[in-house]
Amino acid sequence: MLRFLAALFFSISMASLAQEPAATTATTPVPSPAPKTTISSVHVDGPYIALTFDDGPDRKLTPRLLDLLAQHHIHATFFVVGENAAQYPEILQRAVREGHEIGNHSWSHPNFAKMSEESVRSQIRRTEEAIVNATGVHPTLLRPPYGAITTREKRWVRNDLGYEIILWDVDPLDWRNPGPTVVTNRIVKETRAGSIVLSHDIHAQTIEAMPETLRELEEKGFKFVTVSELLKMATAPTPSPKPVNAAASPSPALSPSG
Ligand code: ZN
Repeated sequence: MLRFLAALFFSISMASLAQEPAATTATTPVPSPAPKTTISSVHVDGPYIALTFDDGPDRKLTPRLLDLLAQHHIHATFFVVGENAAQYPEILQRAVREGHEIGNHSWSHPNFAKMSEESVRSQIRRTEEAIVNATGVHPTLLRPPYGAITTREKRWVRNDLGYEIILWDVDPLDWRNPGPTVVTNRIVKETRAGSIVLSHDIHAQTIEAMPETLRELEEKGFKFVTVSELLKMATAPTPSPKPVNAAASPSPALSPSG
């Protein structure tokens, strides 16, 4: 009888001990992803989004867009091409006066990934000068034309020149002129909290799409900020909840995150 009780006690102790390693396995840290060198969207707590307009300013279309944005009290970000900025400094001045942000989108819209470092530096520097000459404000955001930029270029653009490299997560492909309704539908369908929306203020259809696009985005409750404002709102993504019992957890391959 004593021997039986001793054996029973032993097996219970072993059973409780056996649970310890399982509990430890559940808290094993997951390796964190490498720090981002380009930004396509931002994790934010709230319905904030950034509209961005590339390749302008355009003599006729950009002022029309500025009128519309003013009516809606919306601030956007304009990634300007240096040659256009130098030609229409008064449009940049107006944009800045009305609360918009100006970003650097190169001097003549070449593909940075196919160019020498010296040429890329010149493209960025000349555009920066045009923006500063027009507005007195130093741009802190760069969008490479076509989103094309090498890993090496990313590194020195951030570290030496101090630019954040801004891409996008919503692309209506408006440069293909699919018609204003298609542009609106694509943007409204794809936009989420923290989205950076790409479009171009040099295409008439894009400007024609904007009244309805803004109306529908407002109806969905989105609030519009500049890209720099969106970056300041960034919060760490909430880690997906881990089950208490590791043995009961699904395989990581089934997890929707990643
Ligand atoms: Zn562009």
